[in-house]
Amino acid sequence: MSKPVTGGCQCGAIRYAFQGPVPPAYACHCGECKKQSASAFSMSIPMHYQTLAVTGNSTSFQTESFSGKIKHNFFCGNCGTRLWHSGNNPPDAITLKVGTLDESSGITPRGHLWVSKKQQGIELDPASDQQMTQPEDLIEWRAQLGTSK
Ligand SMILES: [Zn+2]
Ligand SMILES: [Zn+2]
Repeated sequence: MSKPVTGGCQCGAIRYAFQGPVPPAYACHCGECKKQSASAFSMSIPMHYQTLAVTGNSTSFQTESFSGKIKHNFFCGNCGTRLWHSGNNPPDAITLKVGTLDESSGITPRGHLWVSKKQQGIELDPASDQQMTQPEDLIEWRAQLGTSK
């Protein structure tokens, strides 16, 4: 049994913990994710909100995903750190933002979405699954990342 994985927002108002191991991570290089991360790309891990022990209250706003579905974007209302996304509110299936983990340095993205929009100068692992845009079935693609290679 691996030890609990911990993380939280930048100001510390929201903290979370879950039982490891950390699920396979992926990165997205689309324009929305550049805005969301205020950087070159986002990194996420798919998981269930119910497996997180959360302290502090997150707030959310809605955007529309590429598939046209409503996405709820959860963040800290104090410091603005983006924490997780979900198709539902209250959240169930979420994508947790890897940069909020206390220790994320050992995590390699297994796959990359929207490589066609990738920031110049960012090199990707040739062994990773690289999608020029995004697959039709994103949930299936995420699930496959854990099993390939
Ligand atoms: Zn905060
Ligand atoms: Zn994206």
